[in-house]
Amino acid sequence: MKKFIWLVTFLVISVALVGCGNGSSGSEEGEATRTVGIAMPTKSSERWVFDGENMVKELEKMGYKTDLQYAEDVVENQVSQIENMITKGVDVLVIASIDGEALTEVLEKAKSQDIPVISYDRLIMNSDHVSYYATFDNFQVGVLQGKYIEEKLGLADGEGPFNIELFAGSPDDNNAYFFWDGAMSILEPYIDNGKLVVKSGQTSFEQGATLRWDGAKAQERMDNLLSAHYSGEKIDVVYSPFDGISRGVISSLKAVGYGTDDNPMPIVTGQDAELASVKSIIAGEQTQTIFKDTRELAKSAVNMVEAILSGEEPEINDTETYDNGVKVVPSNLLEPISIDLDNYQEELIDTGYYTEEELN
Ligand code: BGC
Repeated sequence: MKKFIWLVTFLVISVALVGCGNGSSGSEEGEATRTVGIAMPTKSSERWVFDGENMVKELEKMGYKTDLQYAEDVVENQVSQIENMITKGVDVLVIASIDGEALTEVLEKAKSQDIPVISYDRLIMNSDHVSYYATFDNFQVGVLQGKYIEEKLGLADGEGPFNIELFAGSPDDNNAYFFWDGAMSILEPYIDNGKLVVKSGQTSFEQGATLRWDGAKAQERMDNLLSAHYSGEKIDVVYSPFDGISRGVISSLKAVGYGTDDNPMPIVTGQDAELASVKSIIAGEQTQTIFKDTRELAKSAVNMVEAILSGEEPEINDTETYDNGVKVVPSNLLEPISIDLDNYQEELIDTGYYTEEELN
């Protein structure tokens, strides 16, 4: 009988201890209620939709709550979305800015409430309250685009001259300058030696810039360039930093008869491997794009969130390049990949980024 009582006592104590164990995961539950505010620029470009979805997926897997907001490229909306997140008391902010220069004030509010900030893909400028920067090697993006043009045309073997026009990204996005500088590090020598001819003479970043990366604006500029400088002349290459711009350019080219056997499309570069542009590559219109795996970028940002909240150091591989005007922001740079007809299957379908059906 005594044995039986001991056994029951033992079982009761064990159950109670296991209960305590569960109770201590109450602190995990405490962690699980932590919320990450994610401010994204726009849904109009699908890369940002994937970025948002991937981040929510990763964070929820780890027990975080998320507040994901898109501002449709309206700066004021993004500022008020961030303000709301601060008021609600999120634990960390992850921000892909619309205008990198427009967040200084709102980040002061985040600072006053000790809410750490991670800059996502685009660098937030003029604020000391940016803990880390998760992005790709943005200079390398431009280098890959420039090299693609160099190789396709045989410029290094002395081929040319070829006619080229140049587009740049949004002047309020720090990345745009990195893409441009990377591309020009390859293309400029050929412009200087006359193997690449910019008939419009528009060779500066400012002249090529496309506010908010707007494809319609690029199309309008391309219409003007074609009518002013290419009646009776062929254009061989368009340097475009972003798929949305490339598609605007291609519409403009098609409207004046490019894209036939007799009058083939010029080389048109791009970035983001957006579905419509990969389809365009398969259809023989756009020539190239840059794949930046948003699944990996989301993981990199989530790693930063985790590290900040547990007082540890996240994975960082660059502490020199990204000066936001106030501080050099410790960064983790991922590798971009150049995509064309030859490798889209391997890089985009075999890795599960797109399915075969999506590209049909
Ligand atoms: C991103 C690019 C994107 C562009 C337009 C840049 O900041 O790095 O991937 O093509 O914005 O959305």
